[in-house]
Amino acid sequence: MNILSFDIEEWYLEKKYFGNHQANYKMFDSYLGHILDKLDERNFKGTFFCVGGMAIEFPQVVKKIEERGHEIGCHSFKHAWLNKMSKDEVYEDTRTAVDAIEQCIGKKVKSYRAPAFSIGQDNKWTFEILAKCGIERDASVFPAVRDFGGFPKFGEKVPTLVSYKDVKIKEFPICTTQILGKEVAYSGGGYFRFFPLCYVRKEMSKSDYNMTYFHIGDLIPESNGVMSKEDFEVYFKIPGTLKNRFLRYFKSNFGKKSAFDRLLKLIDTDDFVNIDQVDALIDWESAPKVIL
Ligand SMILES: [Zn+2]
Repeated sequence: MNILSFDIEEWYLEKKYFGNHQANYKMFDSYLGHILDKLDERNFKGTFFCVGGMAIEFPQVVKKIEERGHEIGCHSFKHAWLNKMSKDEVYEDTRTAVDAIEQCIGKKVKSYRAPAFSIGQDNKWTFEILAKCGIERDASVFPAVRDFGGFPKFGEKVPTLVSYKDVKIKEFPICTTQILGKEVAYSGGGYFRFFPLCYVRKEMSKSDYNMTYFHIGDLIPESNGVMSKEDFEVYFKIPGTLKNRFLRYFKSNFGKKSAFDRLLKLIDTDDFVNIDQVDALIDWESAPKVIL
């Protein structure tokens, strides 16, 4: 099973950090429209993790995706890293995000993904908060070391039943592979932009479970430039040195020129479903269990 997932936050971030340019909203709308048309053509449904702030400021975008039959998940309220927040802040962010999205689409939100996969060993208590907010499925675990997140101790790379205290959450982790002894992802984000499509396909063919993840911003060749020191520090919560800002600029722009075409090719040749569809197919009794 190949799962197609998108994290939707560009409209919100453009308004908050990148100058509120009308031309950029048009560009995001256009790319999203292409993706939705392509998925209709193949009769595939994806899971779109939307930032709660978008359900309030850009409800038309969230509604448009939902009306085309895709699952709407929650991608936090303001796209801030959960591992930089207190328990109270995470609860507030999740509660307001789920409420905003549910009001926008008129349906219960069951799936969640943290910004930058920012649930790990040190904030595993987040699972309790997710359950308290009605979330049943999570896709935030990146079972390797990465910038701003990662959960190398998680130990599973397939759908897993997570227990934390008295709550249970169905976890759909990111898939990783080994390169030169290092665990890396291959089916989304910067990794998808970095690796040739034939390599991505080869890795996907080795596993029965592949979780893809794309941001619209990963697929658009036009870039936003280098962030100002002030915005960088507010957003990433690390020093906004020139080195840090240029490194981030390079990482977030590498391979963008061909990324959209490659995604369309992948959708053309491979079969995809969303998390809601996969959940119903999994025998959770015999799925791996992780007690945190
Ligand atoms: Zn995101």
